[in-house]
Amino acid sequence: MQRTYFIYLLLALCVACGGRGVSGGDIADEANSNSRSEGHIAFNADSAFSFVARQVAFGPRVSGSKAHKECASYLEKTLAKYAHKTVLQEFSARRWDGATVHGINIIASFNLSAAQRVLLCAHWDSRPYADNDPLTENYRTSIDGANDGASGVGVLLEIARVLSACNTQTGIDIVLFDLEDCGKPRFETANYGDEKTWCLGSQYWSENPHIQNYRASYGILLDMVGVKNPRFKQEGTSVYYAPDVLNNVWKTASALGYGSAFVYEKSTPLIDDHLFINQITGIPTIDIISLDGSSNSGFFKHWHTTEDNLSNVDKKSLKTVGDVVLKVIL
Ligand SMILES: [Zn+2]
Repeated sequence: MQRTYFIYLLLALCVACGGRGVSGGDIADEANSNSRSEGHIAFNADSAFSFVARQVAFGPRVSGSKAHKECASYLEKTLAKYAHKTVLQEFSARRWDGATVHGINIIASFNLSAAQRVLLCAHWDSRPYADNDPLTENYRTSIDGANDGASGVGVLLEIARVLSACNTQTGIDIVLFDLEDCGKPRFETANYGDEKTWCLGSQYWSENPHIQNYRASYGILLDMVGVKNPRFKQEGTSVYYAPDVLNNVWKTASALGYGSAFVYEKSTPLIDDHLFINQITGIPTIDIISLDGSSNSGFFKHWHTTEDNLSNVDKKSLKTVGDVVLKVIL
């Protein structure tokens, strides 16, 4: 994820609903059986956190690594447990240094025949460089990406679990993008702001959606949503392309009592997966991303450092975002 200053300036309370049969396994399945016994299904913070922990346990999800391969299979299997259809979109892309990298976008769909569709997305890869680390010797170390990558995916997996027990008729597509975070590292060249070296998976999917002429009413991207005491500001790319979606989500958050997390503060436009979805597909898509004006990057303190690990992910923040998104889509 990267900040741009000149491109355009250039660039959910627990939802209760009737349950039907669900399959199970670990904390997520315990959450399922609890919901079944309580007769309603709720976003479960422990379950969401367990999904984050599971991803991080594979190691850095860097293209070409064993961790990347194993985590892709884990995400596919987990989504296939909950969704009506799950597909892998494999692709190749050019990295900032000209190398060809292999990526896997993972798409899970609910209610395939529904005309009205909502797009939910997050990136699942982690950055191969700790190029914002206080120790320069760590620059070429790949990071855990617990908050920057795994947190957004963890919330979406838990939402998938809730949806699998819900009688919603809405068409929902969860897309996990790959190769969002392998953009040009700081230590390479001065020309740091090359936006197209980021978000390779969402660029590919936007040009080649999993269904030809894919349409959705709106989209919500989650990125870096697991930090303690999050501050989700209204960032410029979302304001520019999807102001109505933004206002609806922020209003819903306030109504649920999460107004201290979803703040009515504007920030500069970001280069993130939603930028390319908006520009290429025209689907109005916002970015729910925590921003921290006191850090040197404007993002959470441990952004792109070796400290972006599980100990810095707060399950309460995962639930805040999960409750709000569920309330908006259901
Ligand atoms: Zn990142």
